[in-house]
Amino acid sequence: MARTSRMPGFHKVTVQERRALVGEATGADVGEIGRALEQGGLDAESADKFVENVLGTYALPYGVALNVRVNGHDHVVPMVIEEPSVVAAASNAAKMVRAAGGFAAETDPALMIAQVQLREVRDAQAAARRIREHEQEIVELAERAIAGLVARGGGVRGVEARILADDMVVAHVVIDCRDAMGANLVNGVAEAVGDRVAAIADARLGLRILSNLSDKRCVRVRCRVPAEILATDEMGGSDVIDGMVAASRFAELDPYRAATHNKGIMNGIDAVVIATGNDWRAVEAGAHAYAARTGRYQPLAVWRRDGDAIEGRLEVPLALGTVGGTLRVHPAARLSLRMLGVNGARELAAIAASVGLASNLAAVRALASDGIQRGHMGLHARSVAVAAGALGEQVERVAAMIVEARDITLEGARSALSALAAEAGGTATAPDWHRQERDRAD
Ligand code: NAD
Repeated sequence: MARTSRMPGFHKVTVQERRALVGEATGADVGEIGRALEQGGLDAESADKFVENVLGTYALPYGVALNVRVNGHDHVVPMVIEEPSVVAAASNAAKMVRAAGGFAAETDPALMIAQVQLREVRDAQAAARRIREHEQEIVELAERAIAGLVARGGGVRGVEARILADDMVVAHVVIDCRDAMGANLVNGVAEAVGDRVAAIADARLGLRILSNLSDKRCVRVRCRVPAEILATDEMGGSDVIDGMVAASRFAELDPYRAATHNKGIMNGIDAVVIATGNDWRAVEAGAHAYAARTGRYQPLAVWRRDGDAIEGRLEVPLALGTVGGTLRVHPAARLSLRMLGVNGARELAAIAASVGLASNLAAVRALASDGIQRGHMGLHARSVAVAAGALGEQVERVAAMIVEARDITLEGARSALSALAAEAGGTATAPDWHRQERDRAD
């Protein structure tokens, strides 16, 4: 059965019903979904094996982005995130992109860089030259440290030398990590070759560690959305395109804006990275270092008019794994990978980047038209209602009341809750437009 990521009305059904729908759409077992996600899927005893000084676990919401189609394949995409409206916005934007054919993504091989720092170098030019001359020897030494990876088709793809100062050179060993994120593999290589590289360079050995600027492991995603799909109630599609192009230019000219633009992209990427048990600190470090690679911090995604449509392009390094690491033994991470049905780390990276571009599309379109506060604060109102002590059906009613009153604060929610209690069963008739926002998402 071909997977579909279209599930109209998904947000309106119960959590149990959603699990059944996702099970049907992805082939994941409903019992397994329940077991993997109840209480966050990880007990304190297992958590104690992951990190140190454990007291317990800390759960986060686990949702799914709908409508995501990448390179012609549909995916129900797990997202772990605490921020309201990110999942709905990504699903809504993915629906627009899907209507126009979906995301087109291409992914580099899983090339990671092992760095060997060389200090007290006598002659930097000569040291760099000797490292290049000894490439074959270094490759053989490195591959002995990662025989399992080599047997799986991975291995060393090159050795480079960079002069950082008169007395400092760094050797890069470039390793194809296939379906692993690769940090441990790469660190193993750096340590295995360090002494020999230092001898070759006639230098003192310094640090031996991977680089998180994995710029040889990029994903490039494109999407195109016609003007009529972008139109809002108040604004024609062509005007939305003009606003989005100007928003992109703003981010391209101003690092203050680019940081926020990229944060919106990482909303989508991080949520998928966390849901699949990957190292989001590594991904964040790589993304922002890449954004600053020209010397000025730049947006990772840009938007351009293409006739009567807008085209978005995202380029970001993504060091993700579908094997290895610690978190992928987490039951929820394993469930996520099964639900996605990916063929390996490169396909996972293509999906995560597509959700990042979807998040950026949603944010830039909203900013260029109605502003984000309306949609975002509408969904945020539910968390505020819960924080004020609303329970069960009170949550939606209190949220609707504080949205209507334009007072989405804890105090506003507390007084709405008191008003409800005073009403004692009366009806609150505030418009539920944050529900409308979610309606548009699936
Ligand atoms: P890992 O140590 O589990 O190594 C991957 C293993 O999977 C290898 O033994 C490899 O041979 C095996 N494997 C099986 N099938 C494979 C396939 N198809 N492709 C590739 N390998 C295959 O994990 P890792 O990916 O080397 O390291 C990831 C971990 O390192 C993460 O937990 C990360 O948080 C952590 N880490 C990160 C940093 C950093 O980013 N700066 C530093 C240190 C550690």
